[in-house]
Amino acid sequence: MVFEYAPAPESRGIVALRDSYGLFIDGEFTDGGGVFKTVNPADEEVLAEVASADASDVDRAVAAARRAFDSWGSMPGRERGKYLFRIARLLQERAREFAVLESLDNGKPIRESRDIDLPLVAAHFFYYAGWADKLRYAGVGSAPLGVAGQVIPWNFPLLMLAWKIAPALATGNTVVLKPAETTPLTALLFAEVCQQADLPPGVVNIVTGAGETGRALVSHPGINKVAFTGSTEVGREIARAVAGSPKRLTLELGGKAANIVFDDAPVDQAVEGIVDGIFFNQGHVCCAGSRLLVQESVADEVLESLRRRMSTLRVGDPLDKNTDVGAINSAEQLSKIRELSDIGEAEGAERWSPPCSLPSQGYWFPPTVFTGVSQAHRIAREEVFGPVLSVLTFRTPAEAVEKANNTPYGLSAGIWTEKGSRILWMADKLRAGVVWANTFNQFDPASPFGGYKESGYGREGGRHGLEAYVK
Ligand code: NAP
Ligand code: MG
Repeated sequence: MVFEYAPAPESRGIVALRDSYGLFIDGEFTDGGGVFKTVNPADEEVLAEVASADASDVDRAVAAARRAFDSWGSMPGRERGKYLFRIARLLQERAREFAVLESLDNGKPIRESRDIDLPLVAAHFFYYAGWADKLRYAGVGSAPLGVAGQVIPWNFPLLMLAWKIAPALATGNTVVLKPAETTPLTALLFAEVCQQADLPPGVVNIVTGAGETGRALVSHPGINKVAFTGSTEVGREIARAVAGSPKRLTLELGGKAANIVFDDAPVDQAVEGIVDGIFFNQGHVCCAGSRLLVQESVADEVLESLRRRMSTLRVGDPLDKNTDVGAINSAEQLSKIRELSDIGEAEGAERWSPPCSLPSQGYWFPPTVFTGVSQAHRIAREEVFGPVLSVLTFRTPAEAVEKANNTPYGLSAGIWTEKGSRILWMADKLRAGVVWANTFNQFDPASPFGGYKESGYGREGGRHGLEAYVK
């Protein structure tokens, strides 16, 4: 049976979009060396013109952050904490505005920006606000490093900002942050929240722009710490740029997680976990469960159930409250997903998508599953960063571990089984920073997140997340 839903779009009236946005430096919005446009990936509408920071703008931002560090870095933790609590509460108050803007600029479903991104963003600020006056007890050191240069990707624009800015401020550092070129708007709305919270000028600076702006920031001699989330390729370049300097560096890079389903797992729950693992946020998730490893004896049953469930996913308008899968973030990312999927087919894997009609305007890709995938296939090895699942099978737990670890990445993994002892045995052997058992894509500010191998180094979140910002 096919269910038809009446459209239920969230109003975008709550967002007061401006025609143009400036850089946020020293507590004020200012012009930059150039401008670029940001679009709504769901319909290619130009949302706004945004200032692009060149090297001299980055210079101004770093200088402002340095001046601000003099007083911010020596302010008692309990005073700093009050600012973070205030920011967290303002984010909660303005959550709907932020969620709508995030969905407009990024293409993610409002159900996710509203129910996942924004609550996690506020929670992150509350969590680190609580640490600000307790650093002495964290056992990781308590002296701030100075100015942090932070570069983030487009998949969770505001959440990645929170992961970077909250621990940096709680520990007494000041920051210059560069959002991704395709998703600058919520970072600039966050700058307004900083003003609203009376945060001292220069403590947070936002420099929008493309990769060049990021390059100017991470190689700036005036910063003490670089924090980067993005692709392994750019991460490598940054590691080279920072090598030999006294700058501290943390890298959160790509992933190719295995989601491992054993024959004793409850099939319906596992299928929900598989769907959540790969189709959440259009699969634009570094820890996405993009490789399904299913035990051979239940493979047919699981796949049949998965196909049935995929047929019920609603792809379309990100602002519609019924939407499960939104738009691909950019034309560039769409062509990357298409290319790797075509290669998957050419290499002999079998491709399947449920029948679904995609909007004619904007960037769209249907939920897709590849079966008959071998470990050597590029769709099993490379990060697609889209709604594309590769399915492999295994017979024994040892084989599952071996296949799961057979990847250059090591960010996350999922295990579905009824046996607690097997969960512990597997978790011990999986080379992944996060291992979920009978669930997937769960995030909590108190829990550290980060990778092994080419997924990067350093941890964000939790007490561990403080370590990257203190001496
Ligand atoms: P990306 O191309 O590496 O871009 C990330 C950020 O770096 C963007 O702000 C980008 O600017 C900037 N940048 C590009 N070149 C740079 C350079 N040479 N120096 C300094 N900054 C530079 O990655 P993406 O395509 O935006 O994001 C997808 C990747 O991020 C995936 O591989 C995903 O796995 C990873 N990711 C990892 C995590 C994690 O926590 N481990 C979380 C989310 C995403 P532009 O926007 O202008 O290109
Ligand atoms: Mg955009």
